[in-house]
Amino acid sequence: MRDFKNIKKIIIKVGSSSLVNEDLSINQPVIVNIMQSFKELHDKGINVALVSSGAIASGMHELGLIKRPKEMSLKQACAAIGQSKLMEAYNKAAEIYGLKTGQILVNHDDFQIRKRMNYLSDTLDAMFKQNVIPIINENDALAVDEIKVGDNDTLASLISPMINADLLILFSDIDGLFDKNPKIYPDAKLINLVSKIDSDIKKMAGDKTSTVGTGGMQTKINAAKISTSAGANMIICNSNQIKNLCDIVSGKEIGTLFLAKENHISSREHWIIYKANSMGNVVIDDGLKNALINKKVSILSKGITFVNGDFLKGMIIDVIDKKGKVIAKGITNYSSAEIRLIQGHESNELKSILGYESKSEVIHANDLVLLKED
Ligand code: GLU
Repeated sequence: MRDFKNIKKIIIKVGSSSLVNEDLSINQPVIVNIMQSFKELHDKGINVALVSSGAIASGMHELGLIKRPKEMSLKQACAAIGQSKLMEAYNKAAEIYGLKTGQILVNHDDFQIRKRMNYLSDTLDAMFKQNVIPIINENDALAVDEIKVGDNDTLASLISPMINADLLILFSDIDGLFDKNPKIYPDAKLINLVSKIDSDIKKMAGDKTSTVGTGGMQTKINAAKISTSAGANMIICNSNQIKNLCDIVSGKEIGTLFLAKENHISSREHWIIYKANSMGNVVIDDGLKNALINKKVSILSKGITFVNGDFLKGMIIDVIDKKGKVIAKGITNYSSAEIRLIQGHESNELKSILGYESKSEVIHANDLVLLKED
């Protein structure tokens, strides 16, 4: 048995291939199984949120499309049609068990501004307090490349720390992480526990992608990195285990468990690294780079040699070395136009260059997160 103590809140992600039949119609028995398991969890006092894929697939079914459309607007139309079908199916199943559900649709730009993200987390919190199950999906009907998360494994891992989930479970069409591709090697072994996501683990993920959904093993490993760094355990397991959800939450060894990091990062750092997109970058000299590698120091104008992109004060930017490697991410106190004027100059010269008094750090150490190699 796994040592899961005091699990109070969990988040479940179910992939498209597990939710639709071969003809892409919604697999109602699976949806009923999900709600039945949720009822069992609720009875034990455990709150649950669901990230559900399947909108595009079910919309394709409604429109009689066999191939996933390439055209963005048609894909968006499928999502709009399929999402309401999906909710209809969930609500029908929820009623059987006396459960209530609510729909939340998000895109990546809903995380970009911290205040806006906090409103989302307040909404989710209010739903939990009312014993309502949030059913979350990407807002595919409006998602264009610039603003989308892209896959629901990642989306679930981004939401997980926002609701303080103790455990994230990704239900998929695979049993977990194998040491090699089980479709090619019959002797492939399922890995029960991953305590550190290193390059060996990443190699095991290969590049398999599902034919129906957008996630593959790589997006799942990435999701594991995001959620374990926030202090939540994550499990990958087969969706045929949904009916055993309560056992999994009690610690039964099913699928692959990725252990939460003990020294996990704060929610602010998590937001800077994973949720907010960088709007540009500053290139720093080797002196500042070496100082940064040894300890987190502020980024001063003197050590900046170049600025890329157009950004405003308060936005997230990358700090890169002269070879283009990203060393840190942080909140800038200056716009790109201002940094172009002050780069290479001492902090005490800033007032005379800009004509006004401002902070002496371009990025304060407290607003900076170093990106460590695995
Ligand atoms: N949001 C997509 C949908 O509902 C699925 C994304 C995914 O498969 O990860 O169709």
